[in-house]
Amino acid sequence: MSIKVAVPKETAEGERRVAIESSVIAKLVKLGAEVLVETGAGSAAHIPDSAFSGATIVPTANDLYQQADIVLKVQPPSDAEIAQLKEGSVLIGMLQPYQNPERIAALKAKNITAYAMELIPRISRAQAMDVLSSQAAIAGYKAAIMGADLAPRFFPMLTTAAGTIRPSKVIIIGVGVAGLQAIATARRLGAVVEAYDVRSATKEQVQSLGAKFIELGITAEGAGGYARELTAEEKQQQQEALAKHIATADVLITTAAVPGRPSPKIIPESTVDGMKSGAVIIDLAAEGGGNCTLTQPGKTIVHNGVTIHAPLNVPSQVPVHASEMYAKNLLNFLTPMLKGGEYAPDFSDEVIAGALLTHEGKIMNDTIRQLVEGA
Ligand code: NAD
Repeated sequence: MSIKVAVPKETAEGERRVAIESSVIAKLVKLGAEVLVETGAGSAAHIPDSAFSGATIVPTANDLYQQADIVLKVQPPSDAEIAQLKEGSVLIGMLQPYQNPERIAALKAKNITAYAMELIPRISRAQAMDVLSSQAAIAGYKAAIMGADLAPRFFPMLTTAAGTIRPSKVIIIGVGVAGLQAIATARRLGAVVEAYDVRSATKEQVQSLGAKFIELGITAEGAGGYARELTAEEKQQQQEALAKHIATADVLITTAAVPGRPSPKIIPESTVDGMKSGAVIIDLAAEGGGNCTLTQPGKTIVHNGVTIHAPLNVPSQVPVHASEMYAKNLLNFLTPMLKGGEYAPDFSDEVIAGALLTHEGKIMNDTIRQLVEGA
C-alpha cells in the first residue's frame, strides 16, 4: 500500500496559505505516494479543489487525519489537530517550537515524528528547502508595496506636463533575505533606496541592487552568517547615527532580527519624532516585537503624522505564491525520504536530523528538549 501524504485546510486565524500545489502533487505521486487534500484547503489562496488533480479530495479534516501517514502543514497544529493526528504518524510544517513548547510535548506524547521546517540548517544543499528564505522574500516584496500604498506620494520620479515629481526615498534597515527583496521591489517602483545592516557582507549586495549602503562604522557579524546583538554602547551609537538618515526618509522598512532574541529596538520614539509628517514605517520585525519602540504588532498607528504599520504573517497576504514556494520547499525536503514509495528517512543526514523535533516518544532537539522538559 502506498504511503499517504495528507494536506489539511489551515485553521489558524488569518492563515491563507496551503501546504500543497499541483506540480508538487504530481511529483509526490511519481515518488509512489498517494496524496489526500481536505476539501477547500486551497480556497483562501484562491486554489479550488479542481486544481489539486492527482490528489484524493477528502470531505473532513477528521477523515484526512485518520488516513494520513505524513501530514503537511503551514502553521503549527492546534490542540484539536494534534488530537486528530494518528499515533506514530509524521508531521511536517513550520512548527514554531520556541513559541509552542506545550504542543511539542503533546506531539512527543503521541509518538509523532515531527519535523520543523524552520530548523533546517541553512547550508547550500538545503537552500531549496529553506522556508525562512522563501517566505521572507515574499514579506520583503510585500513590505515595499505596503510602503508605496500607505505613502502620500509617488515612489518614482515623474516628468509630467504638471511638473517634475521627485522620487521617494526608501530606507531599509536589516538586509537579510526580506530586506534584499524590499530593496529590489522599491527600486523597481522607482524609489531612491538606501539600506543599512550590521553585517558588512551586505554592503556589496545592497550596491548590486542599485541602492546606497549607509556606513555607520558599526559591524556585528555573529555565528553562521547571522548578526549578533549589539552592546548597549553600540546600540546608542547606531540609533544616533541612523536618526539623521531616517529623518530624510519617506518610507522606512525595518527587518532586523537576531536569531533566538526579540527584535532589536533600533528606532526609538525620538527618531520617529524627527521624521517627516506623512512618512511611513513598515515594521516587518513586528512578529518578534518590532524594531521600533512605538510598534504595536498587528496594528497600524499614526504618531505625529508618521504612520507605523506592523503587519503579522505577511507571507499569508500573498497566498498563491507563498503556498507554491512553501509546497516546493516541502517537496524538496520530503523527496530524499521517500524511497520506492516507502517513507525511509536517513536520520544521519544533517538536514533531516536538524529539522527533527520529536521521534519515538522523545524530543530530539537539545535546545527544545531543555525548554520543554528542563533537561
Ligand atoms: P534575519 O531575518 O535573521 O535578520 C535580518 C537582518 O537583520 C540580517 O541581515 C541581520 O544582519 C540584520 N540585523 C540584525 N540586527 C541588526 C541591527 N541591530 N541593525 C541592523 N541590522 C540588523 O536574516 P535572514 O534573512 O534570515 O538571513 C541571515 C543570514 O542567513 C544571511 O547571512 C543570509 O545570507 C544567510 N542565509 C543563508 C541561506 C543558505 O545558505 N541556505 C539562506 C538564506 C539566508
